[in-house]
Amino acid sequence: MSDQGSADGAAVGVLEPGAPSFISYDPAGGGEVATFPETSAEQVRAVVGEARQAFAWWSGLTWAEREQRLRKWAGAITRGLDDLCELMHRENGKPRGDAFLEAFLAIEHIGWAAGHARKVLHPRRVGTGLLMANHAATLEYQPLGVVGVIGPWNYPVFTPMGSIAYALAAGNAVVFKPSEYTTAIGKWIVDAFDQANPDAPHQVLRLITGTGPTGAALCESGVDKIAFTGSARTGRKVMAACAPSLTPVLMECGGKDAMIVAGDADLAKAADAALWGAMSNAGQTCVGIERVYVVDAVKDKFVTELTAQIQKLALAPGEGPDAAYGPMTMPSQIDVVRRHIDDAIAKGGTVVVGGSGAVRAPYVEPTVLLDTPEDSSAVREETFGPTITVKGVRDVEEAIQLANATDYGLGASVFARRGGTAIARRLRSGMTSVNAVIAFAGIPGLPFGGVGESGFGRIHGADGLREFTRPKAITRRRYSTPFEPATFARHPKTFTIMKKYAETRYGRKK
Ligand code: NAD
Repeated sequence: MSDQGSADGAAVGVLEPGAPSFISYDPAGGGEVATFPETSAEQVRAVVGEARQAFAWWSGLTWAEREQRLRKWAGAITRGLDDLCELMHRENGKPRGDAFLEAFLAIEHIGWAAGHARKVLHPRRVGTGLLMANHAATLEYQPLGVVGVIGPWNYPVFTPMGSIAYALAAGNAVVFKPSEYTTAIGKWIVDAFDQANPDAPHQVLRLITGTGPTGAALCESGVDKIAFTGSARTGRKVMAACAPSLTPVLMECGGKDAMIVAGDADLAKAADAALWGAMSNAGQTCVGIERVYVVDAVKDKFVTELTAQIQKLALAPGEGPDAAYGPMTMPSQIDVVRRHIDDAIAKGGTVVVGGSGAVRAPYVEPTVLLDTPEDSSAVREETFGPTITVKGVRDVEEAIQLANATDYGLGASVFARRGGTAIARRLRSGMTSVNAVIAFAGIPGLPFGGVGESGFGRIHGADGLREFTRPKAITRRRYSTPFEPATFARHPKTFTIMKKYAETRYGRKK
């Protein structure tokens, strides 16, 4: 991060004695990872001002020049993967393998965004219709300016990258505030951009470190859009802070994803997917599977399969090479998980694996809850832990109805040998994988985002590029005709001709 001055005299990104700061910790051992300054509102505004100058330079580059710089960045991250994964393991707690998968996917997204920006956004001719045939019409997607990105801690590389890479590829400058739990990781990503582009005259990707108030200050700093990823609760605060200035927002919020297992599903594969979808990353996955609805006819077999597969999970807490998952990253989430398990049991749910004793901070062992009532918090609220509820249903119809009976709508999964895509279509979610779990996140061309409490707007794919642009419509009169409609000097027959046209085109009775 640059050592730039700000209006209040303090250097941005530099720890000043006595100035507000915060510490990020290793969630497994509790050791300190790093201390960062709490960036003040005034400093945030100064950084955004500098980013605006960087935007003037960056948006003036050609598509190819931006692509080249983004690819250099992807190269630097790739070459530094061992370092990055080690840091992710340390600051977030996830096993190195999970860190690698996350970082690999993020690199793929940089490549996709860089390689597709021109094709998706560059000026294109649009048909004019008969009335305006003497005009040429062009549509282009222009960058917004400075985009503020506020990130979460659970996927500290992959998730913000869905906004950062796409916003940069579209020609914007970015000011990034990572989660206070994973700030060292955020700084690593930003530093890699600068190291890969030492000749850049401006820093087009800027880091600001801080907790909630710094995020709030970014919302009020005059940025041209906020791309927020986090809880719906904080998302509401972000929207409220952006409302006075009509700053547009992208909301990537939580989920309560369901898996439907049909009677003809491959149960071993469904159980494997449910397990990975629910337990990987210690269940701290926005598109993690939290609920399974399985058709009664195969429920017992599915539960037996799931239980057998859980026994094979090596839960060597975080450190071992075979560790399935690590500690809970955010200490306060452990209480939420405990509350959900206890509530499920109190309301009559059956513990198949784990249960109340599974919560042993900072770890939570896998927990499977059977036939938990639909009004329990384990079914209604985002748990964000390695737990899963399994409920038997009459048929796929009932499964769809229950899967959709949530305020969230982020991802979903369907296991069925026949008709899986038709079921997927009827699920109220932004993304659904058939006979797989979370597959959509690994396909950069697909948009990613939710409905309802899960938010709105899209990262990834062509929609993710357009999300960070404004469509600009341009017309150019190529020649004049005697029948121009938009002039007081209109030919008296203009409307007669237009009426004839409308009657011929639309007025005939079928
Ligand atoms: P959070 O809402 O607590 O914090 C998210 C970010 O907002 C952090 O950087 C935080 O510092 C910042 N923040 C806090 N208060 C703020 C304020 N008043 N104004 C502006 N910024 C503020 O979320 P979290 O615990 O970091 O992340 C977990 C949540 O994120 C889960 O709900 C998860 O499902 C969701 N998530 C969603 C996606 C997605 O793509 N939809 C991806 C990952 C995580």
